[in-house]
Amino acid sequence: MNIRTQLTLSYIGIVLLVLFAMDFYLGRALEGVLSDRITNELEVQAALTREFLLEELPETDGFDYAVIDGIVDRLGETGKVRLTFIGADGIVWGDTERDGQLLIEMDNHLTRPEVQEAITEGIGSEDRFSDTTQTEYRYLAITVKQDEDLIGICRVALPKETINTVLGSQRRILLYVTIAGSVLAILFGIFSTGAIVKPIKRLTQITQSIAAGENSSRVEVKSDNELGQLSRNFNLMTDRVQEQIDRISLENQRLETILNNMSEGVLMVNGTSEITYANPAAIVMLNLPEMYLGRALIEINRIPELQALLREAEQTGTVAFSEIRLGNLQESEAEVTVVPVTAEREYVIVIHDVSHVRQLERIRADFVANVSHELRTPLTTIQGYAETLLNNGSTKSKKRKEFIVKILNHSARLSRLVSDLLELARLESGDVELKRSLCHLNEFYEQILDVFEPVLEESGVTLQWEVSEDLPQVNVDSQLFMQVFVNLIDNAIKYTPDGGMIDVSAEVVETDSDVADEVVVHIKDTGIGIPLESQPRVFERFYRVDEGRARKMGGTGLGLAITKHILLCHNGRIWLESELGQGTVLHFALPIEESS
Ligand code: ADP
Repeated sequence: MNIRTQLTLSYIGIVLLVLFAMDFYLGRALEGVLSDRITNELEVQAALTREFLLEELPETDGFDYAVIDGIVDRLGETGKVRLTFIGADGIVWGDTERDGQLLIEMDNHLTRPEVQEAITEGIGSEDRFSDTTQTEYRYLAITVKQDEDLIGICRVALPKETINTVLGSQRRILLYVTIAGSVLAILFGIFSTGAIVKPIKRLTQITQSIAAGENSSRVEVKSDNELGQLSRNFNLMTDRVQEQIDRISLENQRLETILNNMSEGVLMVNGTSEITYANPAAIVMLNLPEMYLGRALIEINRIPELQALLREAEQTGTVAFSEIRLGNLQESEAEVTVVPVTAEREYVIVIHDVSHVRQLERIRADFVANVSHELRTPLTTIQGYAETLLNNGSTKSKKRKEFIVKILNHSARLSRLVSDLLELARLESGDVELKRSLCHLNEFYEQILDVFEPVLEESGVTLQWEVSEDLPQVNVDSQLFMQVFVNLIDNAIKYTPDGGMIDVSAEVVETDSDVADEVVVHIKDTGIGIPLESQPRVFERFYRVDEGRARKMGGTGLGLAITKHILLCHNGRIWLESELGQGTVLHFALPIEESS
């Protein structure tokens, strides 16, 4: 049953109860009042009849049936009442309902209650059934006295039917009024409960739509009463809820962005080791399948150390930390922290991939070893020759000269090594201030010839410079950039047999629409080439394909590393193509936007 029906029914119930209680009470009251009025009227009528009788009664010693009944009948003609005159001894002398013999045969009425009451009280009344007329009457009797002597009792009687008819009609009117009142009250009830229930219904609809996730609906506030207040409060509450939802979803978004973009893997597992969350980094690190949610971590990734770490966190209830090798990581080293979320009996696993750090540490260690090795070799040689010179004073001057030349060569190599190291360190530190200016690549040609002409002549290697004048200018630090040409052409000469050919060319290469076009320079030689496996490594510091040969050539193994860094400083890039025994092409590119 809905609230409207409930309210309407209870309202109708109350109204009907009140109206019918009122009807009952008023009916009773009306009955009382009417009854009293009828009694009063009977009383008046009895009194009047008595006065008539006293005047009309013959002044004889005894009563005569015919005379008295005649008077009584006459008096009774005018009204609807029954009139009776009873002698003081109870004999009925006159009655409007009986005449002649029947009157004479009437019972003695002295014992009639109203007569008895009248004798004792002066007036008496009674509702009862008349044996004489076989009808129910209301009787009212009063004494008739002559000179203080009771000569008889005058009795008036009204049939109860007449009283009931009057009463009935009055009650009917009352009932009609009650019914009309009820109908009106019910109509009003239906209307007013409708008015009360309407906003409640609206509230219900809105709460339903809010529960379904539609938060923009608001209740119309139409009045200032409690329902209006409720609607207003409801709207306020919905606003607050919306604010909270907005705030929470914003925080969720932030959190999601952080988790999605952080390099650490974040994973959540429940008490039974089932995955409840994994961020993209964790998915990659642990190589999780597509449907990983709800699956046990141990099922997917069998890393005993990780399971041991989870158990440790479970047993101690505190944070557990360890460095673990995760098979899916490149260098497979990761710092893993397991944090128990005790209230939920969940665990947050944070995986920090430290393989890059470890790799850097290794590179640094290798570098130190390499530098030490590179420095020690010429130093030992210098020390050896110097000691020989010192200990063998008698050494021939030709030999001495040879030793001193060797010492000088190795010192020069040491000095080159140190200056290359310093240059590389400066470039790697990133705080190189580029003194950029626009220049055409052809502007480098003359300087290049100045540097290499003697070597080229000596080795019989030909340098071909084929750079068009139409090529756009490049915006570079020309001093630093000269180093790129020097290193690359120097390598090309060093690793090209005598009589070979070096070809320098350049072109504009169009790139994707969102990236600037590039000037790409190619330095092609007909030299010994670089084996495939060494090609990705030649840009590493101290990497040399053939250490002995490179050293003999005076290379430090840092040339290409320096070149790569100079290009990186100019937002450029470098790569190579090479075929063993055929030659090598070094390509480098500079973005035009950056360079012109
Ligand atoms: P280096 O000072 O030894 O030349 P680089 O860093 O310039 O050091 O070069 C690293 C290594 O790459 C060289 O030792 C050499 O083996 C190889 N290399 C570089 N350029 C060439 C080339 N044009 N032809 C063949 N090998 C080359």
